[in-house]
Amino acid sequence: MTLALLFARQGARVCVLEKAPFPGGSMARFLRNSCPLDTGFHFTTSLTGAFGDMFRFLGMREFLREVTVDKKIFLAESKRMFHLPHGHENILEYYAKEFPGTREKLRNFFDLERKIYENTPLFSLDENTVSPLTGLNFSPEDNIVLADYLKKQNFPPELELLLFSFAICCCGTPAEEISLSTLCRISYGLHDRLVRFDGGGGAVVSLFLEMARKTGIRILTGTSVAKCVMEQSGKTLCHRIITNKGQEITFDSCVFTTHPKDILETISPALKTADFRERVESFQESCGFFTLWAKIGPEKEGNSPADASLISYLSKTRLATLMSPKEPDNTATGIMTVKEHDSNGENCETLTIFENVFPEETALWQDTARGNRGEAYGQYKAKRCADLLEKCYTVRPDLRGRLQILDSASLLTYRDFLSPFGSAYGIRQKSGQFNIFGRLPVRNFYAAGQNALLPGAFGAMQSSFILWRKMVGEPAYRQEIENFHKSKGSENR
Ligand SMILES: Cc1cc2nc3c(=O)[nH]c(=O)nc-3n(C[C@H](O)[C@H](O)[C@H](O)COP(=O)(O)OP(=O)(O)OC[C@H]3O[C@@H](n4cnc5c(N)ncnc54)[C@H](O)[C@@H]3O)c2cc1C
Repeated sequence: MTLALLFARQGARVCVLEKAPFPGGSMARFLRNSCPLDTGFHFTTSLTGAFGDMFRFLGMREFLREVTVDKKIFLAESKRMFHLPHGHENILEYYAKEFPGTREKLRNFFDLERKIYENTPLFSLDENTVSPLTGLNFSPEDNIVLADYLKKQNFPPELELLLFSFAICCCGTPAEEISLSTLCRISYGLHDRLVRFDGGGGAVVSLFLEMARKTGIRILTGTSVAKCVMEQSGKTLCHRIITNKGQEITFDSCVFTTHPKDILETISPALKTADFRERVESFQESCGFFTLWAKIGPEKEGNSPADASLISYLSKTRLATLMSPKEPDNTATGIMTVKEHDSNGENCETLTIFENVFPEETALWQDTARGNRGEAYGQYKAKRCADLLEKCYTVRPDLRGRLQILDSASLLTYRDFLSPFGSAYGIRQKSGQFNIFGRLPVRNFYAAGQNALLPGAFGAMQSSFILWRKMVGEPAYRQEIENFHKSKGSENR
């Protein structure tokens, strides 16, 4: 969506191919019993810095209202609940009080986190920043695996979990694989402030659709590339594709924002070397989620929870294997409540519980399709839901008896709706790994999206801005950014 808008604003004719019946991917929402529910995108960092600027640049910022998410972490083994404040200094003070004797270590970590964040050049839309397309390798910490850093720090295990679990859960990559700098790039914003958008990811999708209408972006839903018609020239080029519906589309350039393995499958007949294939096949999947959605019945008198709240329920005090398929029962469960309005304009509070899962637990049904997976699968889902509800009632006993279950989704549901494997954040973000980003082996084909640089909405947008910069060229980019800064300046005046 970001790339389509960026190209359209420069007058390009843009066509979006979306395999699902509706656009939006994991940002899209759906209705059950008139309640709006989030497919994937639940929360993000606040719209400061480059994140806010990207939305401003797209003309969306003024229409997005941030709702602060009240955040708690529950450690199931010790039954301790931590109610986290927002802002780096506040969090530092909070942890220093909870874990006496750790202030200096905490200070060192938060300083490092800030340094890495601030020194990542592409975390700014400024025209003076470099625009690398080779990945995020800028600092020595890019080559340090988080687990190795932690061995030297010797944080108390509970503090280690509190400090690092959230970012690990937001990219589905375990501590023994993720680099210290990737971790910090994700955690810096999350430590600062957690927000959701009023209207969830659906607010962004609606704005996109409105802008697409105005700028003439064509959106073909239920559509994917069935065949790339290669040019009979020396270079590997393709300016014509045939869709699954038999439509022929011609174009100058084509950008894939789908999963790398999906890209590989689409372009593989054109590949002359095995390098690209080998690289893509070496990628491993991030975790997926099992999700349960429910409507919360009326509040008890005097009970007035926040407009949005999140409790991270961590089953084990062991960061090392969190999000690792090696120990699937070391789980992180997000228990999120949101107060908003249903499609009839009535007050409506919803509960979403999501827990990380790996493909092994649904392997029995992996060759089945939605709506046709049999009774045992129904029993699996029912048991999963019951387990999630028990965890929820441990930390929110006030919700017992007040829930109306609306829907649930397994990894297979996500797979059938969204990406080839159903993982939440695409591939794992490993230290030393070069993701697929920028130009592909078919010379006028490119890749961006959440698999390119960093996962999540922020990472997907970031990759789009960087790729767009590369494709339109430096002079055009600088001109656009200059205009943007001028209009921002006049807004501020
Ligand atoms: C359960 C879950 C929870 C998440 N929680 C958060 C969160 O709280 N915060 C956050 O920032 N991010 C979260 N994410 C990730 C976030 O939603 C994505 O990073 C974001 O939507 C942008 O990703 P994207 O555009 O790269 O991919 P997606 O949103 O997955 O979009 C890819 C689109 O491509 C389409 N597609 C796939 N294959 C093809 C094909 N062959 N042809 C045509 N179309 C195709 C899909 O249908 C989809 O519409 C979550 C994701 C999931 C699944």
